Amino acid sequence: MTVIDSTISFIKEQYKSQNFIPLHVPHFGGNEKKYLLETIDSTFVSSVGAYVDQFEIMMQGITQTQKAVAVVNGTAGIQVALRLAGVVKGDEVITQALTFIATANAIVYNGAIPVFVDVDLDTMGLSPTALEQFLVENAELREDGAYNKNTGKKISACLPMHTFGFPVHMDALLAVCTTWKIALIEDAAESLGSLYKGKPTGSLGKLGVFSFNGNKIVTSGGGGAIVTNDVSLGAKGKYLTTTAKVPHAYEFVHDEVGYNFRMPNLNAALACAQLEQLDNFLDNKRKLAKEYESFFAANGINFRTETPETKANYWLMCVELENKVERDLFLETTNANGVMTRPIWQLMYRLPMYAHCQKDAQHNAEFLEERIVNIPSSVR
Ligand SMILES: *Cc1c(COP(=O)(O)O)cnc(C)c1O
Repeated sequence: MTVIDSTISFIKEQYKSQNFIPLHVPHFGGNEKKYLLETIDSTFVSSVGAYVDQFEIMMQGITQTQKAVAVVNGTAGIQVALRLAGVVKGDEVITQALTFIATANAIVYNGAIPVFVDVDLDTMGLSPTALEQFLVENAELREDGAYNKNTGKKISACLPMHTFGFPVHMDALLAVCTTWKIALIEDAAESLGSLYKGKPTGSLGKLGVFSFNGNKIVTSGGGGAIVTNDVSLGAKGKYLTTTAKVPHAYEFVHDEVGYNFRMPNLNAALACAQLEQLDNFLDNKRKLAKEYESFFAANGINFRTETPETKANYWLMCVELENKVERDLFLETTNANGVMTRPIWQLMYRLPMYAHCQKDAQHNAEFLEERIVNIPSSVR
């Protein structure tokens, strides 16, 4: 039996099933039905309701932040978080090319331009050393912030992403961003429950954004949340995402072009029931990660684990194969045998709309792009 064959049987054993094993499916084991029925009985299924408020309070608790704003999805959350951080049309925003498309798209929705800086091999997220090197070589610091010497444009924000729930090197990134007067926004879409030096991801930058899409660790069907410790920015976020309405007893007064990015109460109800189970999900996934770790260690495959001083949520678990040939064989064989696996994303600059963007050498991103494969990671 080859290593890939034993991997297939091992995964089927873990999920106690010989049928198709998906990559990640939601687990509804709590109050989901109860809360959903309550919203229907109350008629408050739409954009205001008690579960929206409760969801925001729960998110403030979980992320240890002062203000959470429920939004319609993670992408919209990142879009607004960037705007709140001061990103305006024509600015540049530094992010990683090794990410899901939403990260880059949310930058463009603000009329800004993504600049791709390499990731670290250990975290698979934005590298502080690569960021510093990029800025030293390409930027100049002025009174009001960092400017790209090649384009003359302001680099107003930096948007690292905690890949698959593995926290980036936050302290070092924050230090570089502070020196260069660049706002740091965390794309924490994948890292709900992950900790960096004991602190929740999403709470460490100026703003952080989570996703509650169906494939994430906790789902609201579709949804997102912006979190921040800056109470006035948080209030501005709530106002902007709810059509920029000025409070009034009956008049419609809007004094800015806002968005209808509200999370419906129906979705918030689902999210609340799911958030109640977050700790169980985290324990459950950590146990599976331990099983995978020892199995793959015994079989000579590199299973990716959390880095020192961090606690990953193990949202999507992954292995690092020797090279692209090995990776392709692994993908082929597992998928042909009912175990769903998937390669990491294509780097953003491979896609036509981001092909022209400025980038650094990308050695690590390209190394990982050829080797990382996600394996089934659902709660069992
Ligand atoms: C899922 C995800 C998003 C966007 O979330 P949606 O809720 O699907 O809009 C953004 N960034 C990353 C890295 C993601 O994985």
